[in-house]
This record gives sequence, structure tokens and C-alpha cells, in this order.
Amino acid sequence: MANFSTLMQQVRQCSLCQDNLPLLAKPILQASVNAKILIAGQAPGVKAHNSGVPFDDASGKRLRQWLGLNSEQFYNPELIAILPMGFCYPGKGKSGDLAPRPECAPAWRQQLLDQISQIKLTVIIGQYAIKWHKPQFKGTVTAAVEQSLQQLADDSDNNTLVLPHPSPRNNIWLKKHLWFEQQLLPLLQKKISQLI
Ligand code: SF4
Repeated sequence: MANFSTLMQQVRQCSLCQDNLPLLAKPILQASVNAKILIAGQAPGVKAHNSGVPFDDASGKRLRQWLGLNSEQFYNPELIAILPMGFCYPGKGKSGDLAPRPECAPAWRQQLLDQISQIKLTVIIGQYAIKWHKPQFKGTVTAAVEQSLQQLADDSDNNTLVLPHPSPRNNIWLKKHLWFEQQLLPLLQKKISQLI
């Protein structure tokens, strides 16, 4: 098994699905073996592709607010691992970005997770990461977020939580589900402040 820095180097040089990407392969991820919180998102957007920085957009700004983390904390790989389901920008579809490339997770995800062994909390964003991290779960994203509220309220040992996507495209969802910001986020922020 490759050591972690070799593995990260291999990922950063990956061009496995280049033929199916709209722009050049440019894996965008952040991790260290000591990371305590894993952000399991979808795939980088075009702004993150251009800057090379994960969540370098309005979604990222909102996600940091939701988590109660400043930029310095969020971009510290010793605290936060950011491993989306696809590491490269997948391109635009009819309604938002395309799905993460299906080649990516089977090629890299488990190898990386096997070496990031200090994770105390996994924050899942979106249906693709739900399928990977909670394969038994068959409900909607909303049901998964509701379940996360229950886990936080019960202070359960299950440290795999689901959030809606922080994209401005989800503003209507947020307005319809006020409990998310009013009840879930304060509990989540408390949990995170205990971990970092
Ligand atoms: S999306 Fe994943 S598999 Fe495809 S080129 Fe990027 S790193 Fe490699």
C-alpha cells in the first residue's frame, strides 16, 4: 500500500477519466492522516476548478457558516479532510453541475479513507455521498437530514451526518425546512467545536 503522501501525489496526477471531463483533469481535494472531520461532498464547481481551492464559492462560504468554521480552520488539512465523490469538475448539465464522475470513487476513495483514520465526524453532502457512506439508507436527502437532526438531538454515537447542499440553488429548500437552520445547525456547531 502506498504511503499517504505518495497516494495523494498519485491522486493529484490522475487523469483516469480525462476523456469524459469538459476541462483538463484537476483533482481538488484536501486531506491529512490526522484530519478529524471529513467533508464528503459531490464534486468541485468551476470556480473551485479555476482557483484549485475546494469550496471556493458561495456554497463554500455558506458551508463554513453552517459548520461554524472560519477559513483558516476549514482549510487546515490537519483538521478537515475534503474528499468529494469526484475530485475533478464534471461539467454543466441542464440543472446545475453534472454528477461526479463514476470512475473516481472506486479508484481512490477507499484507499484514501483507509489512511485517514482519525476521523470523528463525517459530514455528507448530496445523494452521491449518501450512497457511498450510508449504503443502507434508501430515503430522500431531506429524510437523511431529518435523521441527522435526530442523531444530534439524541447525542448519538453515530457520527455520520447529512446536510443539504449549501448551494444558493437550495434556498427554497432552506425556507421550507426552517428547522435545519434553527435546530440542526446549533447542535452541529456545538459538536464541531468540541472536536477541534
Ligand atoms: S475525476 Fe477522479 S478519476 Fe477522474 S481524472 Fe479526476 S481524479 Fe481521476
